[in-house]
Amino acid sequence: MTKKAVCVCSGGIDSTLAATIASNEGYELHLFHVSYGQRAEASEKEAIEKIAAYLDAKTIKFVEIPFLKELGGSSLTDLKRKVPIGEAVSLDKERATPSTWVPCRNLILLAHASAYAEVISADAIFVGFNAEEAMSYPDNGKEFVELYNVVLEKAVASYCQPPTVKAPLVDLFKPDIIKKGIELKAPLHLTYSCYLGEEKHCGVCESCLHRRRGFEEAGVDDPTVYL
Ligand SMILES: [Zn+2]
Repeated sequence: MTKKAVCVCSGGIDSTLAATIASNEGYELHLFHVSYGQRAEASEKEAIEKIAAYLDAKTIKFVEIPFLKELGGSSLTDLKRKVPIGEAVSLDKERATPSTWVPCRNLILLAHASAYAEVISADAIFVGFNAEEAMSYPDNGKEFVELYNVVLEKAVASYCQPPTVKAPLVDLFKPDIIKKGIELKAPLHLTYSCYLGEEKHCGVCESCLHRRRGFEEAGVDDPTVYL
């Protein structure tokens, strides 16, 4: 029987590589994108359409979670707050957390993806969580994934085999992610990473800086056109 994977995908490098790995492992791909009011949602969706075609995904599911936008609390969703520019990680002085942190985002995203996985009987949920992001965002780390998988066993109907969240990049930093992406022929050229959501990557937000530095340190030509 075909193995199915729900691939939580933002259209960025990490989640696109995770989806590529799922594809290489023989999973049928069901890409899952969440709009939670982030500035870049339109550009992300555009990237995902292209990535889905490239990876021959079976379906794409676009989900909206307006509550997270309504809630604000993040420079990604609150247009009155500024996205930090020109610093690799800019920590909020009082909270020691980047202003780009979205409250409980990955928990909320995974809860939605898990419900979807239950309905389509998916075996796995692939995410692009990685060591680089985990330095600023605790919901990207190995411990979060392990604990979430324990919860998931009791979160789906008892007749279901619970899907497993797989985070194949969880120990990797950006340069290794890029090298792995090239090695596995992931469509890195189709990905979109910028927090600002303009047509071209700004090149100076935290996410663009990670992207640029990743290509540089990997010693690989960066296909991205920056403003
Ligand atoms: Zn940017």
